[in-house]
Amino acid sequence: MYIVLLGPPGSGKGTQAEVLSKAFDIGHLSTGDLLRDILENKDHPLYPKVQVIKEGRLVSDEVVNQVVEDGLDKPKFKNGAIFDGYPRTPAQAAALDRMLAAQGQKIDVVIDLDVTRDVLIYRLLGRLVCPRCKRIFHKRYGLTECPDCRIELVRRGDDNEETILKRFEEYKDKTAVLQDYYKNSPAVYIRLEISDASRTAEDVQEEITERLRQHDVI
Ligand code: AMP
Repeated sequence: MYIVLLGPPGSGKGTQAEVLSKAFDIGHLSTGDLLRDILENKDHPLYPKVQVIKEGRLVSDEVVNQVVEDGLDKPKFKNGAIFDGYPRTPAQAAALDRMLAAQGQKIDVVIDLDVTRDVLIYRLLGRLVCPRCKRIFHKRYGLTECPDCRIELVRRGDDNEETILKRFEEYKDKTAVLQDYYKNSPAVYIRLEISDASRTAEDVQEEITERLRQHDVI
C-alpha cells in the first residue's frame, strides 16, 4: 500500500502519517525529517543544498528525489509507504511514479488535508516536536518533554511567522497543483476540510478511516 498525504504546512500530515503507518504496517517517509537530519550534519555531502529549509523555500527536486529513492530501500518500506511532505512538485510526483513503477507498484490512495489558514497558523506557532521520535504535540497540552523518550520537546527552527508565510507561498505556487495531478490519476482521492482549530487529530483520523471504508480501501 502506497499513500500520499497532501496538505499545507501544519495540516496534520505528520500526525496522521504516524497513525496510518501503524494501521497499515507500512513505513512513514517524511522528507522534512530526512532533510532536517541532513541539516544537523555538517559533514553530509548534501548539507549545503538543504540550507534553503531555513528560509522556508523548497529544496531542489533533484536532491529530494535522491533522498527518497535512497530512503525507500530501507526494510521498513517492504510493505509500502506513507509519504508525508513528498511529493511537493509535479516533477517530484512524476519521479515517485517512476520509482514505484520500477517495483511494479503505484500510489493507491491520496489524502488531501485542506485546512484553513487561521487553523494552520495556530497549529504551527504552537507546535512542539520530540527531537528523537519526531512525535508532534501542541503547546496547549502543557507538555515540556516527550512522554515516550523523556527528552525536552523543541520548536522547529522554521516554525516562525516569517518562514511560515514563505512556506505557505511555496505550497500555493508549487504544491497545490498536485491536487489535479492526483485527481486525474488512478489513485483513490480523499479530501478532508478542516476549519475548526478544536478538531482533534483523533477526529480527523476517524473521518479518514470512514472515508477509506467508503472507498473499500479497508
Ligand atoms: P516539512 O517538515 O514537510 O514541513 O518540511 C520542512 C521543509 O523541508 C520544507 O519547508 C522544505 O524546505 C523542505 N522539504 C520537505 N519536503 C520537501 C520536498 N518534498 N521538496 C522540497 N523541499 C522539501
